Amino acid sequence: MISVTEALDNLFALADPLPVETVGLREAAGRVLARSVTATRTQPPFAASSMDGYALKSVEADLHAQFKVIGEAAAGHGWHGKIGPGQCVRIFTGAPVPDGADKVIIQEDVQRTGDVITISDDSDAKSNIRPAGVDFEIGTQMHAPRRLDPGDVALLASMNIAQVPVARAPIVALISTGDELVMPGETPSADQIIASNTYGLAAMLTAIGAAPRILPIARDNRASLTTAFDLSQGADLVITIGGASVGDHDLVAGVAHDLGMEQSFYKVAMRPGKPLMAGRLRGTPMIGLPGNPVSAMVCGTIFVQPMLRAMMGLGQAPAPRAQVPLAAAISANGPREHYMRAIVSEGQVTDAGAQDSSLLSVLSQSNALMVRPPNDPARAAGTMVEIIDIY
Ligand code: AMP
Ligand code: MG
Repeated sequence: MISVTEALDNLFALADPLPVETVGLREAAGRVLARSVTATRTQPPFAASSMDGYALKSVEADLHAQFKVIGEAAAGHGWHGKIGPGQCVRIFTGAPVPDGADKVIIQEDVQRTGDVITISDDSDAKSNIRPAGVDFEIGTQMHAPRRLDPGDVALLASMNIAQVPVARAPIVALISTGDELVMPGETPSADQIIASNTYGLAAMLTAIGAAPRILPIARDNRASLTTAFDLSQGADLVITIGGASVGDHDLVAGVAHDLGMEQSFYKVAMRPGKPLMAGRLRGTPMIGLPGNPVSAMVCGTIFVQPMLRAMMGLGQAPAPRAQVPLAAAISANGPREHYMRAIVSEGQVTDAGAQDSSLLSVLSQSNALMVRPPNDPARAAGTMVEIIDIY
């Protein structure tokens, strides 16, 4: 058995970088910027008013001073004359500040009678003008790689970058295996259960910018598994779920091997998730996840997500960990690294209760995995432990 770190290194070695594609801004959120992009314009392109008011010369802006209103500048409609002494221009937020003005006095601070304003409050020291280029200048770069969040998309739009170079979303084939499984919405027989893992994993992988495809369930026979592997062609990563331990009906490793899989590793010293397998099949990386639902989801967090991030160009890094104090004492850990379902609340962590790897109800209530090193002794409340945020 290898360690989690060794298994992850092996997965990184299998992680082929994805090609770059160009998408429109509407498709860019959640994708990974693959090449640095450069602003084609300066923002704002002109000194702009940040308030509704009157543009004038700041040296003249004394209490009770009067000005003649000689024009109007609105957003999208500048006033293109020059403001002289004793003059001002009615101005609105976003409008270019006319030549000759270096201050916008807000409308709340003046009294207007006809074309004449009188300053009624001179306590606002701000210019209320946004200088040209205060946000970004032509030539400013957004650096790759970077997962594009909604704020990034807004910035790219403002830079007038309508087409964005991103890593192609990795296509992940998800194959559930088992005679006992039916798809959600179907009617199981008395001996059957609903396939849940594929749906949980698909949701998890969609959330990080991958493109999962749920394939038909493979039955516990060689022909059905072979068909499933055939259907997975074209994927960037093939994931099987279940059938990976040593029972009579656990055929994934055998079938994959017969189809020519070069195995990278099998079995990892962790709990849950020990019967994890990986390799390369017909040129495509493949991961065999354990079937127990929580094991599959934990392995999705610990292995699949970091591997996909590496494929998308975000570098080779394990799932990020944080240190949090225990809210209550916990008992000693066994010989394998344990990823306990846990709840972080108000800066403290509690184990989520029963840790059997079939319990999706417990996983659903959890928001973290508490990582226990092998043979970690019992720990008192207040001890700092490592956690990994999940969804
Ligand atoms: P296996 O690794 O095939 O022996 O499966 C281990 C356990 O996980 C068994 O109880 C299976 O019924 C269950 N299981 C396997 N695959 C899935 C799945 N896709 N959804 C829900 N449960 C599963
Ligand atoms: Mg099975």
